[in-house]
Amino acid sequence: MQLLYPSFYPEFHCIAGACPDSCCRQGWQITVDAAHRERYAALPGPLGEAVRGALVRDGDDVTLRMENGVCALLREDGLCPIEAECGAEALCDICRTHPRFIEGYGGRRELHLSLSCPEAARLALTQTEPISLTSEQTDEPVSEPFDADPDAFLALLNARSDALEIVQNRTLPLPDRIALLLRFAARLQRLFDRGDCAMGTALAAQLGRAPHRDRAIVSTRRLRLRGTSFFPELTLLRRTEHLTEDFPRLLDLAVFTRHESRPFWKEHETELENLLSLWLAHYLPKAVRDDHPQSRVLLSVFLTLAVVRLCVCSGQELASVAALLAKELEHSEENIALLCKTFTRPGWTEHFLAQLPAPLKGDPTHAI
Ligand code: SF4
Repeated sequence: MQLLYPSFYPEFHCIAGACPDSCCRQGWQITVDAAHRERYAALPGPLGEAVRGALVRDGDDVTLRMENGVCALLREDGLCPIEAECGAEALCDICRTHPRFIEGYGGRRELHLSLSCPEAARLALTQTEPISLTSEQTDEPVSEPFDADPDAFLALLNARSDALEIVQNRTLPLPDRIALLLRFAARLQRLFDRGDCAMGTALAAQLGRAPHRDRAIVSTRRLRLRGTSFFPELTLLRRTEHLTEDFPRLLDLAVFTRHESRPFWKEHETELENLLSLWLAHYLPKAVRDDHPQSRVLLSVFLTLAVVRLCVCSGQELASVAALLAKELEHSEENIALLCKTFTRPGWTEHFLAQLPAPLKGDPTHAI
């Protein structure tokens, strides 16, 4: 089995009792898998009684009881008694793997961290070097079937490397890099639609070279100077299933506040690059399910633009806005599916380009 994960992934450790926004306090439904149900049924002593007392039947499922949104087992010191007394292996699958997203592609498994976890977000946002992906071969046998087209999947993996290279080219301001990324995604999609997906790498190499790159950026300038409203994004975010009460409140602020985002882009350039890199790394290979890489790039750009807009309008910290978006969108397959489907429709590339600040005097691309 080949494992792949962001370079900082091995540094992640749950900070448990010191966590400022514990996943055990989110009111999430925690379904206990069958193997752990059996284990808990046989757990001796007061811990066994407490665990069994916290299990609730919900149709065919068994879940952990929540009390005012807090896991009924959570101790006052913020620790889980199962983990404290029996070790992490005794946690049910959901609790043991959170905040990881584990994506299986046959002989390949990709591990990503959810930004809803404050410790994962801290690690993601404090990386000063461009985020890379680490690959590792393990002895674990391949057990998952993978019936996707291997050529299309390989093309997507290459497209992800190319997309990361575009986004992490620090010789350009981040809005210019995103403009190039959107152009890259539009052309990549045309290649996929024609069945020419293997040509994607040549396309990225061309977009990376000065005359092509500069022309592509200049071609976006007219739209970027014109600007546009954030209203379509807000309408879309309102249509998603809301999982917290904070989120609709934050969206209201974004409607009624005018904003100038340029200073925010400059001040948080590396953090925004990291977020966009992580979202591309997670979502682009998933296009193997529908051959629509452009919608995954648009999703990643949409999340980045939403972070900028919501931070600027609310004055909230970038980490807390990114965490809220992750809770609302990334932990709901329905919400992610709704967004990806929406981004297969035309017009979003131009709309997102118009959200990006235009080059200013002094920017490397202003003089082109
Ligand atoms: S949110 Fe993250 S750091 Fe906090 S308790 Fe959960 S896994 Fe641990």
